[in-house]
Amino acid sequence: MDTKQKLTFILNDADLAQELKDIALKVQNTERITFDEGVYLYEHAELGFLGVLANYIREQKHGDRTYFNRNFHIEPTNVCVYTCNFCSYSRLIKNKEEGWEMSVDGMIDALKKYDNEPVTEVHITGGVVPKQNLDFYAEFFRRTKAHRPGLHIKALTPVEYYYIFKKAKLSHYDGMRYMQEAGLDSMPGGGAEIFHPEIREKIANDKCNAEQWLDIHEQAHKLRMRTNATMLYGHIEQFWHRVDHMERLRQLQDKTGGFQAFIPLKFRNQNNQMDHVPEVSVIEDLRNYAIARIYMDNFDHIKAYWAMISRQTAQLSLNFGVDDIDGTLDDTTKIYSMAGAEEQTPGMSTKDLVNLIKQVHRQPIERDTLYNVVTDYTDYVFDEEVKPQFYKLPVIN
Ligand code: SF4
Repeated sequence: MDTKQKLTFILNDADLAQELKDIALKVQNTERITFDEGVYLYEHAELGFLGVLANYIREQKHGDRTYFNRNFHIEPTNVCVYTCNFCSYSRLIKNKEEGWEMSVDGMIDALKKYDNEPVTEVHITGGVVPKQNLDFYAEFFRRTKAHRPGLHIKALTPVEYYYIFKKAKLSHYDGMRYMQEAGLDSMPGGGAEIFHPEIREKIANDKCNAEQWLDIHEQAHKLRMRTNATMLYGHIEQFWHRVDHMERLRQLQDKTGGFQAFIPLKFRNQNNQMDHVPEVSVIEDLRNYAIARIYMDNFDHIKAYWAMISRQTAQLSLNFGVDDIDGTLDDTTKIYSMAGAEEQTPGMSTKDLVNLIKQVHRQPIERDTLYNVVTDYTDYVFDEEVKPQFYKLPVIN
């Protein structure tokens, strides 16, 4: 049975609750579900049901195409002026000798290590420190573009920008324009956590709030910059907080259309001040991806960070609404491993990633940051791939 037939089967199921049937009908008719329906899905829908709906949307939008990109990360510092309780990565500014703080020269050296690699993007994020200010990043972006003009710079989040622009006494719009002129191409989705103040004040009390986060993205979109959005789920929030979070993003996307991907991020509980909070199950991870795919009807892509949830869960997620797996990291990020992710040295070759996608009968497409196709690996055979071997059987006379 293909996904369309499965959806029809669900719609004809006499035992299914009317509320779920109404939602399934909306999905079939490409209609938006409401806030209350989003909460209803979280509270009542089973994984199998969600999978059919999310997969239907995914295949309507992308067929079997599954995207990945070849990128590397630079994390300029793990010292931070902020004190988010879920953070396993940062060292407080008062203990900064325990952390690292790179110079612009150091970051350019890190970049140069990839000179002969076919990467298309550098992803930059880390902590927030006074020294890494407007001039610091503007110089880094300019030198990066001078060194390798074709490399896409996806850098920093509103958490960093809010701090940097405030210090430089620049409006969000002027600050983003300054960064864009220096070479910034797009913005990743971090720092969103959970927007609702009831939760944000408990887990990320002192950094930019929801309105500031959303405004910086809005200003970036006005400058025709594309950005992503995340949601840190599975800690002390309730289901309706997740829907509230997605609703705010959905509204901004209606206004600007500047978001590319929505990336649910699983809360991990090691080495942070929330280690007493249990992590949610893989089932809940998959339910969350699926509901995100159903709710975020105006987002083109739902992305899974395999380094955070493990490659097996990422592979499973491709049947629950996810169409993008980030990325061929070369052990260049510490953010997930320090929080207790299964992947302690998160590297995956292109061949590994392509095979992971093919194993579940999807089409691997290498993309650039803006989802232009770089290479379609659907029928690609790797040189060094182990070919089936045939041996001559001994002939017994
Ligand atoms: S999550 Fe980001 S802003 Fe918060 S403490 Fe960690 S590095 Fe700093």
